[in-house]
Order: sequence, then structure tokens, then C-alpha cells
Amino acid sequence: MKKSMYKKFQKIAGKKNCFVNPEELSGYCFDAFAKSNAFPEIVVAPESPECIPEIITLCNEENLAIVTRGAGTNLSGGTLPFDGSCVLLTTKLNKIKEINKADHYAVVEAGVVTADIANAAASAGLFYPPDPGSMNISTIGGNVAENAGGLRGLKYGVTKDYLMGLTLFDAEANKVIGGGRTVKQVTGFNLPGLFAGSEGLLGIMAEFILKLIPPPESSKSMLVTYNDILKACDTVSQIIAANILPATMELMDNFTIRTVEEATEIGLPVDADALLLLEIDGHHGQVEDEFDKVKSICKKNNGHLKIAEDEDSKNKIWEARRKALSSLARLKPTLILEDATVPRSKISSMMSSIMDISRKYEITIGTFGHAGDGNLHPTILTDKRDKDEMLRVEKAVDDIFSVALSLGGTLSGEHGIGTAKSKYLEMEYGSGTVKFMKNLKRGVDIKNVLNPGKMGL
Ligand SMILES: Cc1cc2nc3c(=O)[nH]c(=O)nc-3n(C[C@H](O)[C@H](O)[C@H](O)COP(=O)(O)OP(=O)(O)OC[C@H]3O[C@@H](n4cnc5c(N)ncnc54)[C@H](O)[C@@H]3O)c2cc1C
Repeated sequence: MKKSMYKKFQKIAGKKNCFVNPEELSGYCFDAFAKSNAFPEIVVAPESPECIPEIITLCNEENLAIVTRGAGTNLSGGTLPFDGSCVLLTTKLNKIKEINKADHYAVVEAGVVTADIANAAASAGLFYPPDPGSMNISTIGGNVAENAGGLRGLKYGVTKDYLMGLTLFDAEANKVIGGGRTVKQVTGFNLPGLFAGSEGLLGIMAEFILKLIPPPESSKSMLVTYNDILKACDTVSQIIAANILPATMELMDNFTIRTVEEATEIGLPVDADALLLLEIDGHHGQVEDEFDKVKSICKKNNGHLKIAEDEDSKNKIWEARRKALSSLARLKPTLILEDATVPRSKISSMMSSIMDISRKYEITIGTFGHAGDGNLHPTILTDKRDKDEMLRVEKAVDDIFSVALSLGGTLSGEHGIGTAKSKYLEMEYGSGTVKFMKNLKRGVDIKNVLNPGKMGL
């Protein structure tokens, strides 16, 4: 980078917050999806949202594309930089500015870690439900930009359901405000809705107003094992059809169970074909009643129940689920994690297709996921140096998406499109929709400065 340009960035964000050495930059050439060969010109980590418009203006003057980055945990290549780009790192925008107990909301900066919001809400006797598996490191900006889900999505929804308002800066450095502090607000376009899932393409989000809710009075968890994974899937569909909404309904196949057990020694039943992790929460009486109904549906499907008797065993159950991805990642050099999602009544069909695809292409797939949301994570374990296997993996991924769409599902339940799935976008929505998205992007970012090319836009 030219010295004069570097000096301008330093003047805006401070010397200690601007990085240009190759060793420093290389730490920002990857995310949880992939590593890029491209190198940014600079990484800048402002300590105050007021710096953002100045950074945008400078990038416009110097023709630098901007890649906004939180913790870099996205699984779709959304933060992979471009040669000669500016990575705008939000992790120092980490202030929780307000937890409002009277009106049940929080005001937070974009780089606040998700778990810190949940903990701050809990300290005030309130509840912030979205809980992506990465919540101990992911930022709320990344959660909003990917519309992240989590284990509680089934009953409590995803990040967009808690986004009341936001402040952002557009590609021309204008300050834009959407939504607000009231429960109802229909002044103008629904900008919070537009920006949930915007993947850094439409603006740089600086601050959010998040809805908080009263916490559930009580909860009960159980682990149910099955000799046949399709029976576990049927259980999920039947619980939903019985009008019961557990807080969580997570599935793991035998391969994932064995892998997690090997990594954690939590005591999972390694001989089971599948397991379901279930949690019911709410008022005490309702929990007891629904728990009994769920137990009988599980038993009808030949499930073997293990009820978590105390907090410790409950935590162990959830720890097992949270370790699924990292445990699988230890096995092979390359991991391809998909998140095709189908209507809940189709979860059995999706699961059996994944097993067929694994056999057809002779590849290893461990499947776990938010079964209650119809959101499975078939996780392909491979080695990208094995050209022959990679060809089969690509075909398998194509097949997984085709099946999900044919069942009325979607390419991505929560991980977003980024670079990973951009070639499939039209397959789901058709050319008219992709054109509309492109027009929208060009309309608010005429020079194509913000994360250009991501989502194929
Ligand atoms: C172990 C593991 C478990 C995971 N579990 C889940 C899960 O259960 N559910 C789930 O949904 N996801 C999960 N993820 C994926 C990931 O954690 C989420 O997508 C998360 O929301 C990303 O947050 P981040 O701060 O890392 O964002 P980043 O990866 O840094 O960025 C993600 C995208 O958001 C954009 N962006 C970030 N901040 C801003 C901002 N302030 N303004 C504009 N754009 C911005 C970036 O440009 C990029 O396109 C998991 C990932 C891992 C590694």
C-alpha cells in the first residue's frame, strides 16, 4: 500500500488499528469456509462507529473494495477478501450500550460477541434466544448479515426475529437508520428485514436494537436413541404435527455420534443409528404436559429415552451437540458443510436421500442438524488434493441441493450464500429474482464497492 494512503487510514482509525504487513494480513485471508489466495491491501479495525463513513469515503477515493468482517466464522466464504481490498474488521466495535428492562430491548454495536449479549440479557432477567453454535466467538453483525439461526430456532426463530432496528452506513457513506425501539414500526421500507441476510453487500452495519423476551420459567431435556435414523426423523415430523413446539430438536447420525464421542468422551450411545436431543421449555405445567406427549411419540417410534435429571446432565447433552462440527472437522483435511433445509414433514425423505447420495458417490457424510427446523447439515469429509474424490463430492453437493429444492426446501437455512453457493442461487429462485437482487445491489452500491461478487451479485 502506498505510504500516503496508509497514513490516511491511520489518521482515521489510529495507528494501532491498521494492518498492512503480509503476516498480519494473512490472518484475514480465510474464514470458516475456505482460504483465499487473494490478499487485502489493508485491514482496518475502527474502535468507534463514527470512523466507518470516513473509511468508506477513503475506500471510494482509492478504489478499494470493502469486505466487512466480524469474527470470520461464516461457513459460506462471505469474508474472503479480494486482491487490493480493505477488510473492515468490526471486533473493536464491542460496546453493549443499553439493556432496557422496561421496554425489553438491547442496543449493541456490531462487533459485540453473541454470547455477551445473551449473558448481559440474562443478568437483567431477560432472554436473547438466537444461539448459533459459534456464539462464543461470532459477532452480532455477522449474525445479522447471515441471519444466523441456532439450536433454539424451532420455537424462538432466528436473528431477524429479534432485529428491531439498526444503524448502517451505505456505499456512499450516508448514515441510514431502519426500524427502532417500538414493537410496531412501519415508517418506510422494512430495512432491518432487508439487511438480515445481506452478507455485507448493501451497507456496513454499525449498531443494532435487539428484541429481548422474558425467559422461560422451566425446561426439561432428553436424549432419545434410535436403531433406525428414519424413525428419528419421523418422530420430528410427528411432534410438529401434534402442535408441540420444543425449544430444540437436534439430530445426529451414527457417524457423528461416534466422532463426537471419540473427541469428547461425554458418554454418547455409540451403537445407536441416530439420536435426538430434545428440550421443552415454558411454564412449568405446560412443560410437564408437553414433555409427556413428546415422550410417548418418541416411544411409539421405538426411541429409547434418557431424561436429563439435573443441570449437569442437561449441559452435557448440549455440549455434545455443540461439538458436532469441530469433532467432524478433526477427521479429514477438507470438510464441506451443507445446510440445505426442507419442510419438516419432508425430513425423512431428505435424510434417506442423503444416505443414498453418500452410497452413490462413495463419500463419507456425517449428518447432524436442527431437525426441528428441517435444517440438516450433511457434512462431507474429504481431501481436496484427491481430484477424483472431489469430482464425486461436487456431484453429491449438486444432488443434495436438487433433492432439497424438489422437496420444497432451500439451499441454505442459515449459513448464507457467499462464494460457496452463488452458482446455485438461480436454481432456487430463477433468473428474474437474481436480476432483481442485482438491480437492488447496483441501486444502493453503484460503484460495486461492498463485498463485490459475493452471492454472485
Ligand atoms: C463451529 C461453528 C458453528 C456454527 N454454528 C452455526 C449455527 O448454529 N447457526 C448459524 O446460523 N451459523 C453457524 N455458524 C456460522 C457462523 O458462525 C455464522 O454465520 C455467524 O453469524 C457469523 O458471524 P461472524 O461474526 O463470524 O461473521 P463473519 O464471518 O465475519 O461475516 C459473515 C458475513 O457477514 C458480513 N458482515 C459481518 N459483519 C458485518 C457488518 N457489521 N455489516 C455488514 N456486514 C457484515 C460479512 O461481510 C460476511 O458476509 C457456525 C460456524 C462455526 C465455525
